[in-house]
Amino acid sequence: MLTDTHCHLDYNKFDSDRAEVIQRANDSGLIRMLVPGLQHKSSREAVRLAESNPSVYAAVGFHPTDLEEFSESTFQQVKDLASRPKVVAIGEIGIDYYWIKDNDKRAFQREILKRQLQFAKDINKPVIIHMREENDAWFGDASVDLLKILKEWQSALQSPLANQPGVLHSFNGNLETAKNALALNFYIGVTGPVTYKNAQKNRDLIQQLPLDKLLIETDSPFLTPVPHRGGRNEPAYVRHIADKIAEIHSKSPAEIAAITTANAARLFAWGD
Ligand SMILES: [Zn+2]
Repeated sequence: MLTDTHCHLDYNKFDSDRAEVIQRANDSGLIRMLVPGLQHKSSREAVRLAESNPSVYAAVGFHPTDLEEFSESTFQQVKDLASRPKVVAIGEIGIDYYWIKDNDKRAFQREILKRQLQFAKDINKPVIIHMREENDAWFGDASVDLLKILKEWQSALQSPLANQPGVLHSFNGNLETAKNALALNFYIGVTGPVTYKNAQKNRDLIQQLPLDKLLIETDSPFLTPVPHRGGRNEPAYVRHIADKIAEIHSKSPAEIAAITTANAARLFAWGD
């Protein structure tokens, strides 16, 4: 029983075999997959996929590097989609200082992030957060700015959302940032790079995080785990991430699958 809480199945890399990809995921033990939106169009596509596949769920929102698509009218379209029954979160939203260097554009990212957080609070749904530092640093302004915004937001939430406000997707920050996020009750998303030879720092960090706060995500079609590295990623490969976490935490792969599936079910409230 596995769950992939982050896969971009709407990407054109899946156009030729999307149904087979979903079938392979189901056949390899995945009970659920979550497709996040990047702007209004991919949010609509994520909802369409969720509504036509029982094991697929959707999130809707504007990714920080897709904000040229943001307008009051496209935001309204995303808000309208958010009330559909299979939309379980607002995302992916956040801060990206890797691709965006301009200070005004960074300020705009923070402003739109705050508006989307406010909307998530209004409709009582958790958030899927993207965060990337300039030059892929381990720590920097993106971590500082993001934590400040999330702290302010989380402290104004009521339970149960205050207890499960969201996930820091494909987490690539340092231990201190992870601990600060855990203190705000956020989950930490683990992706394929944890399987890479040069990712010891990443594995050391994950070893220090509590299992009941971890989610496993492929981020398909990107971040393909070993042994498929170099090819296209797909949800069925989430197993390789579970296996690596099992190794790091000295548990069985089945235990990690069950724990992370239960974590996802708690956060996204989509049943057992
Ligand atoms: Zn993503």
